[in-house]
Amino acid sequence: TETLHIVGGGMAGSEAAWQAAQLGVDVVIHEMRPQVGTFAHRTGNLAEMVCSNSFRSDDSEQNAVGLLHWEMRQAGGLIMQTADRHRLPAGGALAVDRDPFSEAVTAAIAAHPRIRVEGGEIDALPDSGQWIIATGPLTSEGLGRAIQAETGSERLAFFDAIAPIVYADSIDMDVVWAQSRYDKGETEAEQKAYLNCPMDRAQYEAFIDALLAADKTEFHEGETAGYFDGCLPIEVMAERGRETLRHGPMKPVGLTNAHRPDVKPYAVVQLRRDNALGTLFNIVGFQTKMKYGAQTDVFKMIPGLENASFARLGGIHRNTFLNSPSLLDDRLRLRSRPHIRFAGQVTGVEGYVESAAMGLLAGRMAASAILGIDLPPPPPETATGALVTHITGGADAKTFQPMNVNFGLFPPLDGVKGGRRGRKDRYKGYTDRAKALWQDWLQGATAPA
Ligand code: FAD
Repeated sequence: TETLHIVGGGMAGSEAAWQAAQLGVDVVIHEMRPQVGTFAHRTGNLAEMVCSNSFRSDDSEQNAVGLLHWEMRQAGGLIMQTADRHRLPAGGALAVDRDPFSEAVTAAIAAHPRIRVEGGEIDALPDSGQWIIATGPLTSEGLGRAIQAETGSERLAFFDAIAPIVYADSIDMDVVWAQSRYDKGETEAEQKAYLNCPMDRAQYEAFIDALLAADKTEFHEGETAGYFDGCLPIEVMAERGRETLRHGPMKPVGLTNAHRPDVKPYAVVQLRRDNALGTLFNIVGFQTKMKYGAQTDVFKMIPGLENASFARLGGIHRNTFLNSPSLLDDRLRLRSRPHIRFAGQVTGVEGYVESAAMGLLAGRMAASAILGIDLPPPPPETATGALVTHITGGADAKTFQPMNVNFGLFPPLDGVKGGRRGRKDRYKGYTDRAKALWQDWLQGATAPA
């Protein structure tokens, strides 16, 4: 049978390769690192997590990304099974020990008898064969140009921001306390997975003033500074209103200051453990495009971080993605060249989990095409199906922006109460419905045409 070629061995490419190989197809992954680097990747490992170490909520009954975890586990997904093996305590979230995780994905791919990894950058769109392009938000310049030439799209580049990481031993534990919001988590370690920095009103107001006044990196002329709402830089949130942060990443709810239980904080900055050793913590939701000097000044105003030293500061980054609603069909094929599929963040999904899910789908789709199996897209009632339906058809091409999985993408349920009170039932209804349909789809996926 024909070999499947995959460009990019990130979250999506690794999962795509695994799925296709498990279905019996030979795969070559073309990965440019370590020969050619990106500004965010640090290693030559496959599936490197470039920023946060969180796969977000693992609740498959009440949360859409938790449901996506569930669906990928059911499909024997490599990314999920490896994440589960390298899980860190993080309350209800699935946090991952990033280096052992990507090392394990790399080892599993290397050990698979049907997968070969070839080094080097691919800088043109192939003319024949079955291909998946999963080159991610930092698609190399050469390939980006080739995609632009093929699609005629001027809208490939897009910018957003990453959060800083602090060394644990530079945090003042006499000020900061360990607690996850509402004490979420089964074990004590999970209930203490976050560190909290309390602010009183005066400290909060001074912090907002400093954020607003800080030097920011400006965008170059012609670059459009668009953000999706889940990943706004903190200074952009502060510009939207002085209270915005207090209702967003700095909300003081569900937390009690262990040092001063009698004093309710006006705002709280949360730090999340970033590695198994517990030596690094990232500042949750604090992605920023402040200049480096300004960042250290402003972040040292946070109580408990006066003497903080930073393993990495925040920054802006490029995010390359296609206008998928106009360019891809519902099997993730490029309409103008159907032997090429796209997967991962470059399709306009957002996040590690979503990217891996689109890799899972593209891998199964491509393998089915090679094996002569007629595989329909997954039902739109499933998390994977809702996401692919959104990017390839549901979204408006004119205003298309990267999308996280969420219940807003799911077809409505009949007969379940709306509004706030019905929400729990509604989410449970969505996830029950999705799970049954996903099982059916997985079974059909292996039946010959
Ligand atoms: P990647 O994982 O980036 O994999 C793409 C691979 O393709 C890379 O290994 C790259 O080296 C390779 N490649 C690129 N071009 C070529 C070429 N021409 N030839 C061969 N190989 C090539 N998501 C989150 O969920 N949480 C976060 O906190 C988060 N922070 C981010 C911060 C930054 C700075 C960036 C850039 C992205 C962030 N994302 C985050 C998004 C994250 O990158 C994606 O969610 C996920 O890694 C995308 O998976 P992917 O497989 O599509 O791309």
